[in-house]
Amino acid sequence: MKHRIVVLGAGYAGAFSATFLARQLHSDDFEITVVNAEPDFIERLRLHQLAAGQELRHRPLAEVFAGTDIRLRLARVTDLDPEHRTVTVADGNGVDRLEYDTLLYALGSTIADHGVPGVDEHAYHVAARPAALRLRARLDELDEGGKVLVVGGNLTAIEAATELAESRPGLRVSLVTRGELGGWLGAKAHRHMRRAFDRFGITVHEHSAIVRVEEAAAIAADGTVFGSDATVWAAGFAVHSIAAASGLAVEPNGQITVDRQMRSVSHPNVYAAGDSVFVIGDNGLPYPMSCASAGPTSKAATAAIIGDLTGRKVAPTTFSYIGNHISLGRNDGLFQLVDGDARAKPGALRGWAAARIKSAIINTAAWAISRPTFGKPSHQYRLAIREPSTHPVAG
Ligand SMILES: Cc1cc2nc3c(=O)[nH]c(=O)nc-3n(C[C@H](O)[C@H](O)[C@H](O)COP(=O)(O)OP(=O)(O)OC[C@H]3O[C@@H](n4cnc5c(N)ncnc54)[C@H](O)[C@@H]3O)c2cc1C
Repeated sequence: MKHRIVVLGAGYAGAFSATFLARQLHSDDFEITVVNAEPDFIERLRLHQLAAGQELRHRPLAEVFAGTDIRLRLARVTDLDPEHRTVTVADGNGVDRLEYDTLLYALGSTIADHGVPGVDEHAYHVAARPAALRLRARLDELDEGGKVLVVGGNLTAIEAATELAESRPGLRVSLVTRGELGGWLGAKAHRHMRRAFDRFGITVHEHSAIVRVEEAAAIAADGTVFGSDATVWAAGFAVHSIAAASGLAVEPNGQITVDRQMRSVSHPNVYAAGDSVFVIGDNGLPYPMSCASAGPTSKAATAAIIGDLTGRKVAPTTFSYIGNHISLGRNDGLFQLVDGDARAKPGALRGWAAARIKSAIINTAAWAISRPTFGKPSHQYRLAIREPSTHPVAG
């Protein structure tokens, strides 16, 4: 019988890991199944563009996985039982149970509502494609002068507000944040970002925490009512509750607790990557939920899976964090580098060049998902070890 590897989620972490494993592991010995809710690889980094009304390139997972023996299961993961090594999935035909020998959990994240009432019912967001399309449909309904309120003051809020304002100049976009907008940016980057907000005519309300969202307003802690025809919640990410509910060891925020090889500390045949996993970066700080983290965590997880199952020695992965690339509409952007303590360096790449480089990086990431070995010959490692937990890898 083949060793069954099941990958949950086909976003940046899951899709890259699956294609990489499929190219490295011999299909006579391994059967790789990917479960994903959507039929396409979603460039989540461009979902604010989709919401704004732009068309994104269609990337069917069937094409991403073409040429591999990966089995794609389009279904929603509803439950995980790591004791019995099963995953429950649901699709249009009903509920099914998949068995695995090795699991890679990469279901990503959604918005963090911070317990604010009304977010679920009344707010829009851009953390998933269906949500971005709902926001887009709502914006289409609005008349000239319709009010869009973005809640949040960090990366996604900055990108969403500028993108919406640029693509929909007829709407009145404002942003409210409990702290300072992009307060962590270096002085030059911060000035540049504020100039972009001014250019797009985005009103900024700082030091105002939203405590309730209603159908046509967001209410701040001091009672201020921000009238809004579409409230866009962009106040951080949170992981799905499936891992915590399954009994896997998780952190207080629900991210899976792993060793340095992305192996669950409670269930060593379960690995995690991307937003779902809790990792302390080389700077001693928690690795941010970001595409930039999905790369190293996927690399570490796939190396560990290959090491554990084939007996190969794997090199340790580094978890560096060099900064953030932020789009300010389609023709402007920032690349803010950070130091070893994750503090912004004084300088930053700004303007058109930063926007172009960011776009090129996103395109390269999508390209690399289906070409994880970058054209190098693939290895076809054979199954050597059947009990991964008893064979820790080097490093
Ligand atoms: C608008 C926006 C802009 C961003 N910009 C940047 C940026 O500039 N730089 C950066 O580093 N990061 C950015 N991010 C963050 C980045 O997108 C995420 O950190 C990254 O996608 C995480 O990768 P992942 O594979 O863990 O999750 P995802 O890419 O979200 O993939 C998770 C996959 O799991 C699937 N899934 C989820 N739940 C289920 C379920 N129950 N059943 C089946 N399938 C399921 C999803 O459909 C998806 O395919 C941005 C995010 C957003 C929303």
